[in-house]
Amino acid sequence: MDLYRMDLHIHTVLSPCAELDMGAPDIISRCREEDIDLIAITDHNSALNCEALNRASTGSGVEVICGLEVQSSEDIHVLCLMPDLEKARAFEEWVRKRLPPYRNIPDKFGDQFVIDEDNHVIDEYEILLVQGIDATADEIIEKTRSFGGLSILAHIDRPAYSYVAVLGMIPENLEVDAVELSGRLTGSEALFWLEKAGKRSVIRSSDAHTLKDIGQERTTMALLGKPSFHELSLALKGVDGRKVLWPWDRNSP
Ligand SMILES: [Zn+2]
Ligand SMILES: [Zn+2]
Repeated sequence: MDLYRMDLHIHTVLSPCAELDMGAPDIISRCREEDIDLIAITDHNSALNCEALNRASTGSGVEVICGLEVQSSEDIHVLCLMPDLEKARAFEEWVRKRLPPYRNIPDKFGDQFVIDEDNHVIDEYEILLVQGIDATADEIIEKTRSFGGLSILAHIDRPAYSYVAVLGMIPENLEVDAVELSGRLTGSEALFWLEKAGKRSVIRSSDAHTLKDIGQERTTMALLGKPSFHELSLALKGVDGRKVLWPWDRNSP
């Protein structure tokens, strides 16, 4: 069993709220500096920059999972991680069809750049990505599962855009693969939230919108093989001794 460091919540220049330093090679080199082994790219309601990140990561030792941070009709954020690029594209199409047609105003909300692996801008996303789509959080979770993906309730401790803030509690039978707590919590505050998570795995991630955020918050997992979507999915379930280390453990690497 080996330990690997993961950051499963990272935005790129496609998210209007992200800084323009969140380019593809830049994110990968920052992850290398911070010894992060596996990341998930999770732009708001889109996976269009995942391919650039995938390409930029080639040979770097950083594994990239394609994902989206989907905003539900109730304004709940769910991290939806997909097993591969093809599934991410198909899932993205499902999300895109449910996005309200309001256009982005770059001067007001920020740019939404689609880039290649060398940071060349290949497109600008016209529809505003930070909007609730026409699907509930529970429907998004269900749809993610049907694509073979993993769903994680994002930043459940935050007063807005979180499952708990909007709906009050996480039902015991809700089939999410993990819950995320935001990094700002102290260890004892995190323990309070652990109760709300039920028996689910708890992760901590950077929700990076600028390069310096990467490496500030992360989760260490014990895996049997090299970091991958498959190993991650088994670790979240605790299969064969794989496990998610408690992210507030001081001794955690
Ligand atoms: Zn969020
Ligand atoms: Zn986010």
